[in-house]
Amino acid sequence: MKILVTGSAGYIGSVVCELLIEQGHSVVGLDNFGNGHQQASIPGTMTYNANVNDEEQLDSIFTNHEPEAVIHLAAKSLVGESVTNPSKYYGANVVESLALLQKMTEYGVTKIVFSSSAAVYGEPEKTPITEKQAPNPINPYGETKRAFEEILKWYEHAYGLRYIALRYFNAAGATSLFGEHHTPETHLIPIILDVALQQDRPMKIFGDDYETPDGTCIRDYVHVIDIANAHIDALRSLEKKPSGIYNIGNGIGFSNREIYETAKQITGQNIPLQITPRRDGDPAILVASNDKAGNDLGWNAKHSELAEIIQSAWDWKKKFPHGYE
Ligand code: UDP
Repeated sequence: MKILVTGSAGYIGSVVCELLIEQGHSVVGLDNFGNGHQQASIPGTMTYNANVNDEEQLDSIFTNHEPEAVIHLAAKSLVGESVTNPSKYYGANVVESLALLQKMTEYGVTKIVFSSSAAVYGEPEKTPITEKQAPNPINPYGETKRAFEEILKWYEHAYGLRYIALRYFNAAGATSLFGEHHTPETHLIPIILDVALQQDRPMKIFGDDYETPDGTCIRDYVHVIDIANAHIDALRSLEKKPSGIYNIGNGIGFSNREIYETAKQITGQNIPLQITPRRDGDPAILVASNDKAGNDLGWNAKHSELAEIIQSAWDWKKKFPHGYE
């Protein structure tokens, strides 16, 4: 299948492209390199350097490459920034993304896999979180993801667009080629590994007074390879099954302290630790139920043992100590 991947040079996009190509699909990428990296594409893959609302470039892509489906990952994704600058988030994640849907409709492309987020849930009502929990985002980032899910629903109703929205939990890990590199980096695992390698500062854990067994927050880490494969399973599902929304998580939670301890073991480094006050907006526990994705998409997390996730991220870190810089 020929697939347009937006956000193709980002963390998840790069691995989605890698696996699509490995599994015999053909890919055309679209990235504005705001968060993406030139080095995060498979050599020889055609990547358009443009926004998802660049009509001229979209016309060129849909005319010259005739993709049968779109995997839409391009987005702004910093929660904190979304709170201080919601306009940027509604602009990129909703308004610009609408232009992509418009072009899909114009060119008769009827299948889309959309990168949504656990952030649509807000504070969980119970754990593990199922897709039945009503969305209640607590920041603009989550709101924009939720808004786009709703837009997809109405586009299906009006224009027959078929969609699968994947609500990722905590993406982590790397392939031998592509890994996690954000500027600024705010995520737990890449920060711990950077501290392990550079030994230039303490690792800060934000709060140890949560209502969890060791007092630190619990999250559901899912290997980026498993996340990427979920998109491919979703495309397959769209061939004959209905549209839908799915959690993509491991189904098991690990506390920040467990992540820290495992990282110490795997890296063999002494990682200086400092416990600091809580970070605003962090729920104590976020763990997915992944039953629905298992039942409907045939997806399950095959690489999401914590040790495999951290080992793969550490191998990538040692190979690329400064990421893509
Ligand atoms: N965290 C931390 N120190 C850091 C970065 C993150 O203690 O330097 C914690 C954060 O407060 C949360 C967990 O690690 O409890 C996962 O955070 P991350 O930003 O990786 O993902 P999120 O769950 O916020 O999407």
